[in-house]
Amino acid sequence: MDKSNLNIKDLVRDNILNLVPYSSARSEYSEHADIYLDANESPFDTGYNRYPDPLQKELKKEIGKLKNIGTDKVFIGNGSDEAIDLIIRVFCTPLLEEVLLVEPTYGMYSVSAAINNIGIVRTNLNEDYTLDADRVLNSVTSTTKVIFLCSPNNPSGNLFEPEQIIRILEGFHGIVVIDEAYIDFSQRDSWLQKIDDYQKMIVLQTFSKAWGLAGLRVGMAFSNPSIIQLLNKVKPPYNISSLVQEKVLKSIINDQSKVNDRVNVILRERKKMREELLKLDFVKEIYPSQSNFLLVQVDDPNKTYQYLVDSGIIVRNRSRLILCEGCLRITIGLQEENRRLMEALKSYGKI
Ligand SMILES: *Cc1c(COP(=O)(O)O)cnc(C)c1O
Repeated sequence: MDKSNLNIKDLVRDNILNLVPYSSARSEYSEHADIYLDANESPFDTGYNRYPDPLQKELKKEIGKLKNIGTDKVFIGNGSDEAIDLIIRVFCTPLLEEVLLVEPTYGMYSVSAAINNIGIVRTNLNEDYTLDADRVLNSVTSTTKVIFLCSPNNPSGNLFEPEQIIRILEGFHGIVVIDEAYIDFSQRDSWLQKIDDYQKMIVLQTFSKAWGLAGLRVGMAFSNPSIIQLLNKVKPPYNISSLVQEKVLKSIINDQSKVNDRVNVILRERKKMREELLKLDFVKEIYPSQSNFLLVQVDDPNKTYQYLVDSGIIVRNRSRLILCEGCLRITIGLQEENRRLMEALKSYGKI
């Protein structure tokens, strides 16, 4: 464990450490008043004439209860994609420092790094998509600031072994991001439970997958309060709209059991799809999944992909990614959608 309140400041870019953040009207005065003439808003009540709470306090209170974590350890982003971008901007100096990615993995880490002119060091998972902490740690350089680990991993679907992640948390001097976008579909504990044990760990989760709210764009980063404050300092002041804060708040309060039921439907469908896909002779392998998709290796991925497109069904062709030769990534849909996919694949098998 790593409980020292160490060198987080040493890891932050100087310009961010010294940054005086924009102070919005609503953050300078956040108490209740009768009359607000401070933010150049329209006084006419449209339902949305006021700026939203820049720190999303109501929403964080519900997220805190949901995740059993203090609200000072919660950051809310315009999707986890915003948190990914902010983490890179807080900790990595353009042209001088880099992030470390373990391929194959989620594409936004490298895109965000490239947009910010940050270097990328790449290493690979093992062939069975398990994580090798030694290989990761051996790839670290003196200018590596952030390691992104995605568990369950997109596109492979598997969770990484806790022992390997712990070795990276303990052996790396910089920030370790654990992206848990798919954790609600997995049987294992979230790293959130260890948030107080590792000061340089940031856990990402999202409302986009199991919660069914991808269109609202709400992601969460969990970490120690000093890292959360750095993210708050750099984010756009009003990054989550009032409408979205209200919608997510309502969903957390009203929909928890519905979300659980839906996850169970997805898990049941995932099991059924795996069994049926294995019966097709052009399917070579289906990788173990702790997420809402299956990575399926087929004989001719481009042809299978095109056949499905022509049948009106879109899956993700991942066959050009490293270690993903022949692979299609198939999201688990509604029962009827999955049935139609299987029907199409069965008739493809006959041509
Ligand atoms: C889908 C996904 C996300 C979610 O991003 P949002 O911006 O919150 O929608 C994050 N990480 C991974 C690995 C994903 O697959």
